Amino acid sequence: KIFVTCGSRADHVVVWATLDKAVGRAAIKRFVVPMNADGVTVVRLEHKLGIKASDTAVVRFDNARVPAENLLGTPEINVKKGFGGVMQTFDNTRPLVAAMAVGLGRAALEVLRAMLEEAGHPVDYDRPAAAQHAAVAEYLRLESDWEASWMLTLRAAWMADNKLPNSAEASMSKAKAGRTVTELTNKAVELAATVGYSETQLLEKWARDSKILDIFEGTQQIQQLIIARRILGKSSADLK
Ligand SMILES: Cc1cc2nc3c(=O)[nH]c(=O)nc-3n(C[C@H](O)[C@H](O)[C@H](O)COP(=O)(O)OP(=O)(O)OC[C@H]3O[C@@H](n4cnc5c(N)ncnc54)[C@H](O)[C@@H]3O)c2cc1C
Repeated sequence: KIFVTCGSRADHVVVWATLDKAVGRAAIKRFVVPMNADGVTVVRLEHKLGIKASDTAVVRFDNARVPAENLLGTPEINVKKGFGGVMQTFDNTRPLVAAMAVGLGRAALEVLRAMLEEAGHPVDYDRPAAAQHAAVAEYLRLESDWEASWMLTLRAAWMADNKLPNSAEASMSKAKAGRTVTELTNKAVELAATVGYSETQLLEKWARDSKILDIFEGTQQIQQLIIARRILGKSSADLK
């Protein structure tokens, strides 16, 4: 399994594997696997664009065996529910990644705003954006986009907390927040110019860190696909 977050630091990992190769993905179940189990090895760590403090490992499973009680959920194979049931995990985890994007975006906005103020261009919410310094007008546009992702994330997380079906909302929050944080952090580098690009500030790091939030736990394109399926009432076979 390639690209395993925390793969070299974790004591245990959750592995999704099929109980029946003939049934394939409809028989996928989750297992808690101790990293010191026989047959489990970390092959290598990836070198990557951002989130360098987070280890990303390649883990090999070679005849690894785990006790039956390490199976999460029931052992029964339900072909009808199948893979769709496993995918529901993402209804809980996508709002969390969206929340990471909201936090990172907020940090970049705060640094950018302080820089604008220091440069003599404070943000004025009582005047139209177009009547203010161009960099402030851009800041206001970024902040409103950020606020939209924040609201979508709160809604998706609230629905998850309250056990309401939230697949579409989880994907909406992830799509909006992932795209917004990528644009926002790169714009912050642009607006802060040489200071933004320099390693003396965190803006350049955040611009590199943000991209993964639009990729893992499902890419931008996949979120849009899920949202379209939900809105149009199409199955995964209808809309690929
Ligand atoms: C740093 C990092 C950490 C990760 N950590 C984990 C982890 O802990 N556990 C784990 O299981 N995974 C992890 N991943 C994997 C991650 O979830 C996947 O890389 C991601 O979901 C994209 O899948 P893929 O790599 O198979 O891309 P692909 O499916 O090969 O996609 C490549 C491109 O094609 C696009 N694409 C694919 N299908 C369609 C379609 N039908 N329509 C339109 N566009 C499409 C995608 O959006 C993407 O832009 C991690 C990845 C990274 C980079």
